[in-house]
Amino acid sequence: MSARSLSYAFPDGTVAVSGADLTLGLGETLALAGPSGSGKSTLLMLLAGILVPAEGVVDFDGESLSGASQDERARVRLTRFGFVFQSSDLVPELTLRENIELPLRLTGRSGAAGDEARDVASRLGIEELLDRHPAQVSGGQRQRAALARAVVHRPEVVFADEPTGALDRESGRRAMELLLALSAERGASLLVVTHDEKVAGMLSRRVVMSDGHVEE
Ligand code: ADP
Ligand code: ADP
Repeated sequence: MSARSLSYAFPDGTVAVSGADLTLGLGETLALAGPSGSGKSTLLMLLAGILVPAEGVVDFDGESLSGASQDERARVRLTRFGFVFQSSDLVPELTLRENIELPLRLTGRSGAAGDEARDVASRLGIEELLDRHPAQVSGGQRQRAALARAVVHRPEVVFADEPTGALDRESGRRAMELLLALSAERGASLLVVTHDEKVAGMLSRRVVMSDGHVEE
Protein backbone atom coordinates (compact mmCIF):
# COMPACT_ATOMS: atom_id res chain seq x y z
CA MET A 1 0.00 0.00 0.00
CA SER A 2 1.14 3.56 -0.48
CA ALA A 3 0.44 7.07 0.74
CA ARG A 4 1.14 10.23 -1.20
CA SER A 5 1.30 13.77 0.18
CA LEU A 6 -0.91 13.05 3.16
CA SER A 7 -1.96 15.88 5.41
CA TYR A 8 -4.23 15.79 8.42
CA ALA A 9 -5.21 18.26 11.14
CA PHE A 10 -7.26 17.40 14.24
CA PRO A 11 -10.49 19.37 14.82
CA ASP A 12 -8.66 21.65 17.28
CA GLY A 13 -6.36 22.72 14.44
CA THR A 14 -3.27 20.69 15.41
CA VAL A 15 -1.53 19.70 12.18
CA ALA A 16 -0.37 16.14 12.95
CA VAL A 17 0.64 14.99 9.44
CA SER A 18 1.84 17.24 6.65
CA GLY A 19 3.02 16.07 3.23
CA ALA A 20 3.77 12.49 4.29
CA ASP A 21 4.75 9.89 1.69
CA LEU A 22 5.11 6.20 2.50
CA THR A 23 5.13 2.86 0.69
CA LEU A 24 4.59 -0.48 2.38
CA GLY A 25 5.52 -3.32 0.04
CA LEU A 26 3.85 -6.72 -0.12
CA GLY A 27 5.15 -8.79 2.80
CA GLU A 28 7.43 -5.98 3.94
CA THR A 29 8.03 -5.26 7.64
CA LEU A 30 8.46 -1.55 8.27
CA ALA A 31 9.33 0.41 11.40
CA LEU A 32 7.90 3.91 11.72
CA ALA A 33 10.19 5.71 14.15
CA GLY A 34 10.59 9.30 15.29
CA PRO A 35 10.08 11.50 18.34
CA SER A 36 6.87 11.66 20.35
CA GLY A 37 4.38 13.99 18.67
CA SER A 38 5.95 13.63 15.19
CA GLY A 39 2.73 12.15 13.79
CA LYS A 40 3.40 8.39 13.80
CA SER A 41 0.10 7.29 15.34
CA THR A 42 -1.88 9.69 13.18
CA LEU A 43 -0.15 8.43 10.01
CA LEU A 44 -0.95 4.85 11.04
CA MET A 45 -4.63 5.80 11.45
CA LEU A 46 -4.62 7.47 8.01
CA LEU A 47 -3.02 4.42 6.35
CA ALA A 48 -5.51 2.10 8.06
CA GLY A 49 -8.53 4.12 6.98
CA ILE A 50 -9.49 5.06 10.53
CA LEU A 51 -8.92 8.73 9.72
CA VAL A 52 -9.39 10.36 6.31
CA PRO A 53 -6.66 12.75 5.10
CA ALA A 54 -7.53 16.37 4.32
CA GLU A 55 -5.10 16.13 1.39
CA GLY A 56 -3.36 13.26 -0.35
CA VAL A 57 -4.29 9.68 -1.16
CA VAL A 58 -3.93 6.26 0.47
CA ASP A 59 -3.89 3.43 -2.08
CA PHE A 60 -4.49 -0.16 -1.06
CA ASP A 61 -4.61 -3.03 -3.54
CA GLY A 62 -5.04 -0.68 -6.49
CA GLU A 63 -7.94 1.27 -4.97
CA SER A 64 -8.16 4.55 -3.13
CA LEU A 65 -8.84 3.69 0.50
CA SER A 66 -8.90 7.35 1.51
CA GLY A 67 -11.57 8.03 -1.14
CA ALA A 68 -13.77 5.06 -0.15
CA SER A 69 -17.02 5.38 1.78
CA GLN A 70 -17.04 4.99 5.54
CA ASP A 71 -18.73 1.57 5.19
CA GLU A 72 -16.16 0.38 2.68
CA ARG A 73 -13.27 1.54 4.87
CA ALA A 74 -14.81 -0.26 7.85
CA ARG A 75 -15.15 -3.42 5.76
CA VAL A 76 -11.50 -3.27 4.65
CA ARG A 77 -10.33 -2.69 8.25
CA LEU A 78 -12.32 -5.63 9.54
CA THR A 79 -11.53 -8.15 6.82
CA ARG A 80 -8.12 -7.22 5.42
CA PHE A 81 -6.26 -5.46 8.27
CA GLY A 82 -5.20 -6.51 11.75
CA PHE A 83 -4.40 -4.19 14.66
CA VAL A 84 -2.18 -4.33 17.75
CA PHE A 85 -1.99 -1.48 20.25
CA GLN A 86 0.17 -0.71 23.26
CA SER A 87 -2.41 -1.93 25.76
CA SER A 88 -3.82 -5.22 24.56
CA ASP A 89 -7.31 -3.82 24.14
CA LEU A 90 -9.16 -7.13 24.63
CA VAL A 91 -12.87 -7.17 25.48
CA PRO A 92 -12.87 -7.83 29.26
CA GLU A 93 -16.23 -9.65 29.30
CA LEU A 94 -15.07 -12.23 26.75
CA THR A 95 -12.66 -15.14 27.24
CA LEU A 96 -9.35 -15.11 25.35
CA ARG A 97 -10.86 -17.65 22.94
CA GLU A 98 -13.87 -15.42 22.26
CA ASN A 99 -11.62 -12.40 21.84
CA ILE A 100 -9.38 -14.21 19.36
CA GLU A 101 -12.38 -15.55 17.41
CA LEU A 102 -13.95 -12.07 17.07
CA PRO A 103 -12.46 -11.08 13.68
CA LEU A 104 -13.67 -14.37 12.16
CA ARG A 105 -17.16 -14.13 13.67
CA LEU A 106 -17.52 -10.52 12.59
CA THR A 107 -16.64 -11.45 9.01
CA GLY A 108 -19.03 -14.39 8.77
CA ARG A 109 -16.44 -17.11 9.19
CA SER A 110 -17.68 -18.53 12.50
CA GLY A 111 -17.38 -22.08 11.15
CA ALA A 112 -13.59 -21.96 11.07
CA ALA A 113 -13.25 -19.74 14.15
CA GLY A 114 -12.66 -22.42 16.78
CA ASP A 115 -9.94 -24.25 14.85
CA GLU A 116 -8.18 -21.09 13.66
CA ALA A 117 -8.20 -19.58 17.15
CA ARG A 118 -6.75 -22.76 18.67
CA ASP A 119 -4.03 -22.97 15.98
CA VAL A 120 -2.82 -19.44 16.43
CA ALA A 121 -3.10 -19.63 20.24
CA SER A 122 -0.97 -22.76 20.32
CA ARG A 123 1.59 -21.03 18.07
CA LEU A 124 1.74 -18.27 20.72
CA GLY A 125 1.85 -20.64 23.72
CA ILE A 126 -1.48 -19.54 25.23
CA GLU A 127 -3.57 -22.56 24.28
CA GLU A 128 -4.08 -23.53 27.94
CA LEU A 129 -5.41 -20.06 28.77
CA LEU A 130 -8.18 -19.80 26.20
CA ASP A 131 -11.05 -20.19 28.69
CA ARG A 132 -9.75 -17.42 30.95
CA HIS A 133 -10.79 -13.80 30.85
CA PRO A 134 -8.20 -11.04 30.17
CA ALA A 135 -8.06 -10.05 33.84
CA GLN A 136 -7.05 -13.63 34.74
CA VAL A 137 -3.79 -13.68 32.73
CA SER A 138 -0.54 -11.66 32.78
CA GLY A 139 0.14 -8.56 30.71
CA GLY A 140 2.43 -10.49 28.39
CA GLN A 141 -0.19 -13.21 27.93
CA ARG A 142 -2.85 -10.58 27.19
CA GLN A 143 -0.61 -9.06 24.54
CA ARG A 144 -0.11 -12.52 22.99
CA ALA A 145 -3.88 -12.93 22.82
CA ALA A 146 -4.04 -9.51 21.15
CA LEU A 147 -1.42 -10.67 18.62
CA ALA A 148 -3.49 -13.78 17.97
CA ARG A 149 -6.58 -11.67 17.38
CA ALA A 150 -4.64 -9.40 14.99
CA VAL A 151 -3.64 -12.25 12.66
CA VAL A 152 -6.33 -14.94 13.08
CA HIS A 153 -8.30 -13.82 10.01
CA ARG A 154 -5.16 -13.75 7.81
CA PRO A 155 -5.09 -10.01 7.19
CA GLU A 156 -3.01 -8.54 4.37
CA VAL A 157 -1.59 -5.75 6.57
CA VAL A 158 -0.99 -5.71 10.33
CA PHE A 159 -0.76 -2.27 11.95
CA ALA A 160 0.97 -2.20 15.34
CA ASP A 161 1.27 0.99 17.43
CA GLU A 162 3.94 0.59 20.13
CA PRO A 163 3.03 -3.11 20.50
CA THR A 164 5.76 -3.69 23.09
CA GLY A 165 5.29 -0.40 24.95
CA ALA A 166 3.60 -1.96 27.98
CA LEU A 167 5.90 -5.00 28.21
CA ASP A 168 9.28 -5.50 29.88
CA ARG A 169 12.25 -5.81 27.53
CA GLU A 170 12.31 -9.62 27.33
CA SER A 171 8.51 -10.04 26.86
CA GLY A 172 8.62 -7.24 24.32
CA ARG A 173 11.36 -8.89 22.29
CA ARG A 174 9.52 -12.21 22.40
CA ALA A 175 6.22 -10.58 21.36
CA MET A 176 7.94 -8.88 18.39
CA GLU A 177 9.53 -12.19 17.32
CA LEU A 178 6.11 -13.82 17.40
CA LEU A 179 4.47 -10.95 15.55
CA LEU A 180 7.15 -11.13 12.84
CA ALA A 181 6.91 -14.91 12.53
CA LEU A 182 3.11 -14.91 12.37
CA SER A 183 3.02 -12.09 9.82
CA ALA A 184 5.55 -13.90 7.63
CA GLU A 185 3.74 -17.24 7.89
CA ARG A 186 0.46 -15.62 6.95
CA GLY A 187 1.90 -13.39 4.23
CA ALA A 188 0.93 -10.13 5.93
CA SER A 189 2.83 -6.87 5.60
CA LEU A 190 3.64 -5.31 8.94
CA LEU A 191 3.85 -1.65 9.97
CA VAL A 192 5.15 -1.04 13.50
CA VAL A 193 5.14 2.38 15.16
CA THR A 194 7.93 2.32 17.73
CA HIS A 195 10.43 4.59 19.42
CA ASP A 196 12.46 1.55 20.56
CA GLU A 197 15.59 1.14 18.41
CA LYS A 198 15.83 -2.56 19.32
CA VAL A 199 12.31 -3.15 18.02
CA ALA A 200 12.96 -1.10 14.87
CA GLY A 201 16.12 -3.13 14.24
CA MET A 202 14.10 -6.35 14.01
CA LEU A 203 12.15 -5.10 10.98
CA SER A 204 13.32 -5.09 7.36
CA ARG A 205 13.11 -1.32 6.82
CA ARG A 206 12.98 1.73 9.03
CA VAL A 207 11.66 5.20 8.23
CA VAL A 208 11.71 8.20 10.55
CA MET A 209 8.96 10.76 10.99
CA SER A 210 9.70 14.34 11.87
CA ASP A 211 7.20 17.13 12.22
CA GLY A 212 4.40 15.35 10.35
CA HIS A 213 6.36 14.02 7.39
CA VAL A 214 8.48 10.97 6.59
CA GLU A 215 12.25 11.33 6.22
CA GLU A 216 13.73 8.17 4.70
P1 ADP B 1 1.65 8.13 21.14
O1 ADP B 1 3.05 8.63 21.17
O2 ADP B 1 1.54 6.64 21.19
O3 ADP B 1 0.82 8.74 20.03
P2 ADP B 1 0.56 10.06 22.92
O4 ADP B 1 0.87 10.18 24.36
O5 ADP B 1 1.07 11.07 21.95
O6 ADP B 1 0.97 8.60 22.50
O7 ADP B 1 -1.02 10.02 22.75
C1 ADP B 1 -1.83 9.17 23.53
C2 ADP B 1 -3.28 9.42 23.14
O8 ADP B 1 -3.64 10.79 23.35
C3 ADP B 1 -3.55 9.17 21.67
O9 ADP B 1 -4.82 8.52 21.56
C4 ADP B 1 -3.59 10.52 21.02
O10 ADP B 1 -4.47 10.54 19.91
C5 ADP B 1 -4.10 11.40 22.14
N1 ADP B 1 -3.51 12.74 22.08
C6 ADP B 1 -2.22 13.04 21.92
N2 ADP B 1 -2.03 14.38 21.89
C7 ADP B 1 -3.27 14.93 22.03
C8 ADP B 1 -3.75 16.28 22.08
N3 ADP B 1 -2.93 17.32 21.93
N4 ADP B 1 -5.07 16.46 22.27
C9 ADP B 1 -5.88 15.42 22.38
N5 ADP B 1 -5.51 14.13 22.34
C10 ADP B 1 -4.20 13.89 22.17
P1 ADP C 1 3.28 10.29 17.69
O1 ADP C 1 2.50 9.04 17.45
O2 ADP C 1 4.48 10.43 16.81
O3 ADP C 1 3.60 10.52 19.13
P2 ADP C 1 0.75 11.59 17.16
O4 ADP C 1 0.34 11.18 15.80
O5 ADP C 1 0.11 10.91 18.32
O6 ADP C 1 2.35 11.52 17.23
O7 ADP C 1 0.51 13.14 17.32
C1 ADP C 1 0.93 14.10 16.34
C2 ADP C 1 0.49 15.46 16.80
O8 ADP C 1 -0.93 15.52 16.85
C3 ADP C 1 0.97 15.84 18.19
O9 ADP C 1 1.20 17.23 18.19
C4 ADP C 1 -0.22 15.49 19.08
O10 ADP C 1 -0.22 16.26 20.25
C5 ADP C 1 -1.37 15.82 18.17
N1 ADP C 1 -2.59 15.01 18.44
C6 ADP C 1 -2.68 13.66 18.52
N2 ADP C 1 -3.93 13.27 18.75
C7 ADP C 1 -4.67 14.42 18.81
C8 ADP C 1 -6.05 14.68 19.03
N3 ADP C 1 -6.95 13.70 19.20
N4 ADP C 1 -6.45 15.98 19.04
C9 ADP C 1 -5.57 16.98 18.83
N5 ADP C 1 -4.25 16.80 18.62
C10 ADP C 1 -3.80 15.53 18.62
